[in-house]
Amino acid sequence: MIPYGRQEINQDDIEAVVKVLKSDFLTQGPVIKNFEDAVIAYTRADYACATNSATSALHIACKALGVGRNDYVWTSPNSFVASANCARYCEAHIDFIDINPVTYNIDVDKLFQKLELCEKVKKLPKVIIPVHFAGQSCDMKSIYELSKHYGFKIIEDAAHALGGKFYEDMIGSCLYSDITIFSFQALKIITSGEGGMAVTKNKELHTKMELYRSHAITRNPTQMLKANEGGWYYEQIDLGYNYRMTDIQAALGISQLNRIDEFVKKRNEIASIYKQKLEILPINLPKTHTNIYNAFHLYVIQLNLNHIKKNRLQIFQFMREKGIEVHVHYIPIHTQPYYQKIGFK
Ligand SMILES: *Cc1c(COP(=O)(O)O)cnc(C)c1O
Repeated sequence: MIPYGRQEINQDDIEAVVKVLKSDFLTQGPVIKNFEDAVIAYTRADYACATNSATSALHIACKALGVGRNDYVWTSPNSFVASANCARYCEAHIDFIDINPVTYNIDVDKLFQKLELCEKVKKLPKVIIPVHFAGQSCDMKSIYELSKHYGFKIIEDAAHALGGKFYEDMIGSCLYSDITIFSFQALKIITSGEGGMAVTKNKELHTKMELYRSHAITRNPTQMLKANEGGWYYEQIDLGYNYRMTDIQAALGISQLNRIDEFVKKRNEIASIYKQKLEILPINLPKTHTNIYNAFHLYVIQLNLNHIKKNRLQIFQFMREKGIEVHVHYIPIHTQPYYQKIGFK
């Protein structure tokens, strides 16, 4: 059988995890910081905040950017629901910009048109969350230029894209965004079991995300609102969460990150084999822009239903019967019952 995805765990990974299990700290120990530093070194961001999932990272990223009730957040509809849910956790309005039919990423022309319209009715978004679909970076330069003109902030949802590049820069460098988030869920590019990370070049955003990650509790006297009473003293200065990663997970993450270039290279090799073999079929194959290094979390084909006498379900079942575990990416977020219930058509 060809699985939809499978983690690759080697002896180094196992030893790294066992080492933590035998150490003094299972959580909130030194290994988290080491994982954060390793991701900073790899992506060239300046600060990192490891979390228990990318979903949590998206939530605290929105919180750090001040997303709240009545704010607008926009993202791609062809993504995993987490890309949109983070705005709803903050009681913000969510809206969607359709994807470009070639890259499957947010369509920058449509984004521009919607920004123009929404400027007139004073409903501009506070934050836009471009999703690097399947591992291919969005057109970040154009989105960044629009953000300067229309005054919105940018969170890159790079759950698929660790190890990919936009021009010469690693995804996560945050050259064209405020925050980038990654996922280390088992089937993503590298794994820590479950886990995520938010990286940024902005110290203040990082401080806020660290607070929200852990109950908005601080032991730093400069952040305290009342007088520091002594060594035992801490303050909860806002409403935060428990979104911490464990040291066990971080150890696996560090060990996996050592092999990331190898992983992404292999994904690209497999993608080129698919391209060679599938080119003759009446399907559309993914196209990667020449200035982008695709991390290829997914290889998504589009069926050309006018040219085949079968529908999607038939093809899906046929592939599954043959032991090829295909999936559909994605069920558009706004068609989910929850989103229909809050008004989407
Ligand atoms: C997987 C995924 C997430 C959520 O990641 P978790 O670590 O599972 O919370 C967010 N966005 C996209 C696009 C994803 O594919």
